[in-house]
Amino acid sequence: MNALDDTVELNIVDDPDTSEWPWAVYAACRGDHDTTFFPQNRAEEAAALAVCGACPVREDCLAHAMATNERFGVWGGTTERGRRKLARAG
Ligand code: SF4
Repeated sequence: MNALDDTVELNIVDDPDTSEWPWAVYAACRGDHDTTFFPQNRAEEAAALAVCGACPVREDCLAHAMATNERFGVWGGTTERGRRKLARAG
């Protein structure tokens, strides 16, 4: 994992800015240090998507990722590829 990934991931996992992301209080990934949301292989990707699958704020997270064009990582139950597909579908 590179420094950029660390910074982004720590924001939501460890210390989410709840003034900007009020929904992050309920994030299933909050405090989850066993799962990386910047997966490097299919197994890590599947693990992250499984956490998102049980997350009560998945729609808010995905809306944030789409609105801010988050290019990297798993957000709102989507991979980078998935979000590119959604963006193209409009
Ligand atoms: S949808 Fe996934 S990445 Fe987003 S807050 Fe929930 S668990 Fe975290």
